[in-house]
Parts: sequence; C-alpha cells; structure tokens
Amino acid sequence: MENTIQKAMFSEMKDKDLFKKSQKYAFDYMDKVMDRNVFPSEEALENLMHFEESLSENSTDGSKIIEMLHAYGSPATIAQLGGRYFGFVNGGAVPAGLAAKNLSMFWDQNTALQVLSPIASKIEVIVEKWLIDLFKLPERSAVGFVSGTSMATFCGLAAARYRLLKNLDWDINEKGLFEAPKLRIITSKQAHSTVVKAVGLLGFGKENIEWVPVDSQGRIIPDEIPKLDSSSILLLQAGNVNSGAFEDFKTICAMAKEVGAWVHIDGAFGLWAEAVKDLKYLTLDMQHANSWAVDGHKTLNTPYDSGIIMCEDREALIAALHMTGEYIIQGDERDGMYFTPEMSKRARVIELWATLKYLGKKGIDEMIWGLHKHAVNFSKKIGSVPGFKVLNEVVFNQVIVQCETDELTNKTITRIQKLNDCWVGGSMWNEKKIIRVSICSWATTEEDIRIAVNSFQKALSEVRENVS
Ligand SMILES: *Cc1c(COP(=O)(O)O)cnc(C)c1O
Repeated sequence: MENTIQKAMFSEMKDKDLFKKSQKYAFDYMDKVMDRNVFPSEEALENLMHFEESLSENSTDGSKIIEMLHAYGSPATIAQLGGRYFGFVNGGAVPAGLAAKNLSMFWDQNTALQVLSPIASKIEVIVEKWLIDLFKLPERSAVGFVSGTSMATFCGLAAARYRLLKNLDWDINEKGLFEAPKLRIITSKQAHSTVVKAVGLLGFGKENIEWVPVDSQGRIIPDEIPKLDSSSILLLQAGNVNSGAFEDFKTICAMAKEVGAWVHIDGAFGLWAEAVKDLKYLTLDMQHANSWAVDGHKTLNTPYDSGIIMCEDREALIAALHMTGEYIIQGDERDGMYFTPEMSKRARVIELWATLKYLGKKGIDEMIWGLHKHAVNFSKKIGSVPGFKVLNEVVFNQVIVQCETDELTNKTITRIQKLNDCWVGGSMWNEKKIIRVSICSWATTEEDIRIAVNSFQKALSEVRENVS
C-alpha cells in the first residue's frame, strides 16, 4: 500500500503541473532578467523574511512551494544571466549549457562510478580529451570535475604533495604529514585567497609560505623567486583577480623543471586565454606546469557550479584523491570519483560539454575575445572621465578603477550599487581602495558598457555634490 506522501509524489510525477509551473516561471524569469536591475531591490530583500519559518509538521503543496520561490526568490537573485554584472569574476550562462543542465537535472545522475551513470562517465571521458586538446596539455593528463577552482587548486596541491613526498620515499596516504619531510610552498601575496586556503587545508601552514615579491601588475618577479628544489611547490596564477595579469610561465616553469619542483597554476578565469588566438601569448608555456585549476563558470560561461582540475601526473592526482594507491584508468572505463575528493556528485560535466560543443573552438575564441574587447573599451572610456583612473594594463577582462581618494572610491562604489544600472564591487590594490570591474558575461554589449560608464560618471558627480 502506498502511504499518503508517496501517493502525492506519484501524482506530481504523473500530472507534471509542478514542473510545468517551474518551467513557466523559469521562462518568465529569463524574459525579464536581461533588463531588470542587477541587484535585488530593497523590497525584494525585505520579502526574504517570508522564508523565515520553522519546518512544518505537515506536507506543503508542491505548487505552493514553486509559487513562493518565484514570488520571493526570483526577485532576490542577482541578475547573473544579464550583461551588467561586473562584480567579482562571475560569468553568465551560455543558453545551451543552461538547457543541458535543465534536461540533465531530470536525469539526476550520480557520477561517482561508471556503473552509476554510463552517460556521465562517457561525457567525462570526452570532455577530458577536449580540454587536453584545447589547452594543449600533455596527452596523459587527468581531468577532474569539481565545484570550482577552490576545490581544483586543493586537488592540484594534494597531487603535488603526494608526488613530491613519494619522490622522497614517503607515502603521504599511509604515513601522513606529521613526520613527513618538509615541503616548501612558494607563492606571492597576490595569490588568490582560495590558494592560501588550500595551503591551510592541506596542512602546510600559512606561516610556512615563502612569499615572492610582485611587479606593478601583481606578477611574481622571476628573479626574486628563492632557489627552488625538488621539495618546492610553486603556486602561480593565470589571471590576477584584480588586474587580470599573468605570471611569466615560460621563465618560471623552466626554472622549476630544472630542479624537479612542482608548479600549480590557478587559472580560474585566465587559463582560457590559451583558447584565444590573440590572447594566448599570455599563457605561453603554461603547459610546462604540473597541474592547472580552471573554472567553467567564469570565462567560459557555463552555469554554476563547474570547476576543473587538470594534472599531467595522472597517477599522482588519482592517488592523492583516491587514497588507495595506484589506480590507472584504462580506455573509456572512467569512474568520476577517482578524480575528485567527493564520491557522489551531480553530473556537472554535462553543462560543460554542452557549452563547449555549442561554442566550438571558434565560438570560444570569439566570446572570450569579446570580453577582452569590452574590458579594453570600458577602460578607455572610464579613463577619459575626469576623476577616474585605470591602474592596470588591461590584458584580459579585468579593469582596476580608482577615484582620487579612498573615501571617494568607497562612496562611488556605494553610489554605483545604489543606482543599480550595473553592479561592481571594491577591492584593495597596493593598499588603496579600488573599484574592480570584471567583464565576464557573454551577454555584455557595447550598450551595457556605455550604461556602466554613464553610471560611474553619474555616481561620482553625485558623491562630489554631497561631499562639497
Ligand atoms: C574565482 C577565483 C578562484 C576561486 O574559484 P571558485 O570557482 O570560486 O572556487 C580562485 N582563483 C582566482 C584567480 C579566481 O578568480
């Protein structure tokens, strides 16, 4: 006999009203999101209080849940799909990727093992090949599909720890870290906070980091790198989160290779420069590193969440994450869990596959070059407005803008956010407050850039009027 809740659920599956409703609302959302304010209105934020309730004793009608979500949830979202969100480094979503996510959501696959999802396993094999080809990585490289670059860097660093200690005859999986030979961590103060987090999580201790000085764009100065050896892990970046700058991979990787040091590249958004004809000078010789972390959900515009770890030392990555030693994958037999810290996880690779396939190599080139062009265009326009200064060389998609004083910069950011024509956030650069602008959505147009420049201009003049 079916119990009451089971009966109700069978009927939801059968009549699909619930799903029709959520689909209708989704389309309604899509129709409005491009033109609406980027950040939720005050009213929308206040309405979030509707979610403040204790878990009910009785079941709630499914339709009511979807209605509530659309009524109070949809307006309280950030307009991530639109073209005027320039905060952090958040991409939009390629429609084919969103649609693939939508369909595969109904599959509800667990990608831990091939036997749990032959389709996800197949697509992981394919996308691994595509990415190795696109980034021109060593053919034997392993690719894992994780939540984001934070996790990808964690994995890369775990692989480095495994390999370098193994070379010293120390099996980290068996013997642990406490009595292990010491490994060195070398990076710069410009490393992303998630890189430093991974260093902490893996037990290296932030205090033990050897910090290397950087130049005016935030790039490690190769000559300032301490003498490397086979116990060194060097953490570099392709795309500084503020300036978008790239390290000199050619010089630094050669130094590391000579002595057997491990190089990990945090290329969360910047690694994609490799896929753009006129930008790939930025990632020159990045292939000589050992592991690479990159996001789908930033520059490539896959839906959230999509992070990728790539490692030329297939065995080290698998051993570091798998914990049972050497497991070599043969042919098309792929169990996703050997390439990620998680066992069960959703099939995020489907959206990545759909996005790559939809764009193709030409589309990727064109889309990312477009982000760069908009960033250059924005920097030229804003740089010619009195009161604003652009501090970085706009090599990729990031623009650092500054007003005359920290106070003016702070107030201008707040004012821009209030005007809500676009959204930007603040950061620090050389101990000064800055406005960080990241052009990361395929949906950004020249018109959006014009609107943003106007909004900056208006915000600053309003701030000035109030100040004087
Ligand atoms: C965003 C970002 C990260 C963190 O990536 P997540 O996908 O948010 O985990 C790391 N490094 C850089 C340079 C980034 O821009």
